[in-house]
Amino acid sequence: MNQQTIRAHLPTPTVDSAPFWEGCTQGKLLLQACDACKGMIYFPRRACPHCGASSLRWAQASGRGRVFSFSEVHVSFYGPEWNSELPYTLALIDLEEGPRMLSRMMGDTSEIRIGDSVQVVFVDVENQKLPFFQLSK
Ligand SMILES: [Zn+2]
Repeated sequence: MNQQTIRAHLPTPTVDSAPFWEGCTQGKLLLQACDACKGMIYFPRRACPHCGASSLRWAQASGRGRVFSFSEVHVSFYGPEWNSELPYTLALIDLEEGPRMLSRMMGDTSEIRIGDSVQVVFVDVENQKLPFFQLSK
């Protein structure tokens, strides 16, 4: 795992998202699962986006997925403090469980292709673990 330091605008957990971020701290990618329609949900919310039910529980995801799309970022839109991170790769990841997740790729992405297998990695940024991804071997 690439342990490079990343400066980031860190997330502010809400009542709805706090379990997700706590899961990251424990090295677990958590998704919500709907008791009514069995749909899997990302990002955290109070009601199921598939059926509207509010009976949701937390379930650990495999952390595996595939690249739906990606983009290499060459310009910082957040200010000069991000310039040392450029360029980096953002990717839309189709998780094995179904939801699509926007995240950052770690490691060498020079050969990244749509459909590539990826695996979550939790990167410590100022004491907050963030769920990023790397290409699977
Ligand atoms: Zn549902």
